[in-house]
Amino acid sequence: MTVERVDVAGYEFPLEEREADGTLTWDATTMVIVEASAEGATGVGYTYGAAACATVVEEKLRDVVVGSDPMDVGGTWERMVRAIRNLGRPGVVSHAISAADLALWDLKARLLDVSLVELLGAVREEVPVYGSGGFTSLSDEGLERQVVGWVRDRGIPRVKIKVGEDWGRRVERDLERVALARRVVGDGVELYVDANGGYTRKQAVRMGRAFDDHGVVWFEEPVSSDDLEGLREIRDLVQPDVAAGEYGYDLAYFARMLGAGAVDCLQADVTRCGGITEFLRVGALAAAHGVQLSAHCAPAASAAPCAAVHAFRHLEHFADHERIEGIAFDGVLDPKDGVLRPDRSRPGNGLEVKRTDIERFRRS
Ligand SMILES: [Mg+2]
Repeated sequence: MTVERVDVAGYEFPLEEREADGTLTWDATTMVIVEASAEGATGVGYTYGAAACATVVEEKLRDVVVGSDPMDVGGTWERMVRAIRNLGRPGVVSHAISAADLALWDLKARLLDVSLVELLGAVREEVPVYGSGGFTSLSDEGLERQVVGWVRDRGIPRVKIKVGEDWGRRVERDLERVALARRVVGDGVELYVDANGGYTRKQAVRMGRAFDDHGVVWFEEPVSSDDLEGLREIRDLVQPDVAAGEYGYDLAYFARMLGAGAVDCLQADVTRCGGITEFLRVGALAAAHGVQLSAHCAPAASAAPCAAVHAFRHLEHFADHERIEGIAFDGVLDPKDGVLRPDRSRPGNGLEVKRTDIERFRRS
């Protein structure tokens, strides 16, 4: 059995209104979908990255994947990583490898006619999620509607909002928004904040203590995730768990972050870090350091691998991606009582591309 073809396409999903976090503003999200086919079955993977990911797949990865044995995903992954040596692994390249790896795991499961979660080996049936969005660009009413929607309408007892507005220049507003979120969700809900690296070190310590007064238990990227020493310092001085890792593109990155004692909980993105193959290794690395892994974004791609990670905490149910995945795929899971239950009744990841619906978003 060999992989017969690899197809790749880029799609751009525009927003009705611009969105912002502490350090970035955006008005569209690009998704690159990779499909790998063999023996009449097709596996689907994707990443949220630049359209250039598609070029990397076409120019560097396709020749490695076509002709490979679809049962030997690990070996194909190794050959993909070798093939991109001169391009460098982080960024666009790792996004591309991730999408291809996700497609290959899905293809293998479909060929074996088992669900992806069964193929990977579940540690748990339920994957806890948290509602994520809470953009700094939202009005107070918009913020309230979103967080209350997660808690009351969707039954998700964990919510995360963005802080660090304008690179930490609007700390009063950050605190007002956190107070608002706490007030509207009530005391029983876990409240998280993400500064996307917007604060300075001392500022982050002051803010972390102020957030603690509102019962915030998760402080993501208080400073840049490249500032491992700063994360370590802040971690020692504030109550909320310090988390980072969404820009990790290879195993060594996560090893450095854990080795520095920089985080209370590690994050990784299965559509960035190198796909399911690397995500599971990151999970093992976290466990070896006595730290849990939290999955960043792309919930439809993440649910099954999250069920297979031993030291797992939760999955980020990101508002933008939930919207896009609902447009792009049939078979997307809906959180119930704050968890996703990976579907064992459908082969592979259970996703089917809605080709007609997404065609109008196609860019490459
Ligand atoms: Mg984040």
